[in-house]
Amino acid sequence: MKNDSAKSVELDRNDSVTRRDFLKKSLVGAGLLTLPGLLPGCTWEEFSQKHFSELAPAELEQVLRRLKDQYRRCYGREFQLSATGPLPETAFAYALDLSKCIGCRRCVYACAEENNLSRSDPQIHWIKVLRFPNGSMNPEDAERYYAPDKVPEEGYYYMPVQCQQCANPPCVKACPVQATWKEPDGMVVVDYNWCIGCRYCMAACPYDARHFNWAAPTLPINEINTHTHYLGNRPQEKNVVGKCTFCIQRVREGRYPACVEACPVGARKFGNLLDQDSEIRYILEHKRVFRFKEELNTQPNFYYYFS
Ligand code: SF4
Ligand code: SF4
Repeated sequence: MKNDSAKSVELDRNDSVTRRDFLKKSLVGAGLLTLPGLLPGCTWEEFSQKHFSELAPAELEQVLRRLKDQYRRCYGREFQLSATGPLPETAFAYALDLSKCIGCRRCVYACAEENNLSRSDPQIHWIKVLRFPNGSMNPEDAERYYAPDKVPEEGYYYMPVQCQQCANPPCVKACPVQATWKEPDGMVVVDYNWCIGCRYCMAACPYDARHFNWAAPTLPINEINTHTHYLGNRPQEKNVVGKCTFCIQRVREGRYPACVEACPVGARKFGNLLDQDSEIRYILEHKRVFRFKEELNTQPNFYYYFS
């Protein structure tokens, strides 16, 4: 589907029966997988795609080519779609200075643009900014939908939350088809082509960091980011789960995540913990950092501190 005149388009797989739909029905049904015939709207290449970890380089190239063709047809744009692997000697981590955050939500919107998140019906945000009354750290006091005339507000502080890229991620354990896993350089990723949309991972995440695409993403054509990664910001489809990947498409090319660049007060810090000279290493060694819901033993690679 190509639609130049419309302000936004949807990835045109709504009416198709996908491999994921088939698997979902099979799993939910008798608990058996039966050999399918080819289903309408589902190409054999797509249906028979192996798990990401089993794709030989030539097979991966073929998958990327197929997806780029699909995006070209759908959006009328040429996409760069990489699958750059984990960086050697790298352990990515994030730190957020709660003394600096002013609750402006620029990170939220920069994330949505960078990661091609649906702008409406549904509007999806991978970052949420929580407002707490000063002195409280009780999640029950947190307010997500605050809307003051201006920020920061007297008597409150702000705590942005996104995927914490846990070292012991309950979401990964919950997935019945291994569609999500932890990469060696730190990011927990999702293969949208393998996800069956069961949402078990969402139920398992204690940070509410995963988001389900109830509909195909609606993207304004002039805001589409065509610089994408297979495990990151490529346009998602209906009925799959997505989440922050530290902007895998950027950080594996030596760039900062979009939220780090967008923050007007420098509250967000990111880097390689294995690099002795990195800012993130300095913060962890010199600041009193804490991790959100540490008692759950999820071991986030995401730290908070007050400077
Ligand atoms: S924050 Fe949630 S989605 Fe992210 S790794 Fe941890 S459990 Fe998984
Ligand atoms: S952009 Fe920076 S200051 Fe604004 S909400 Fe996000 S982290 Fe806080």
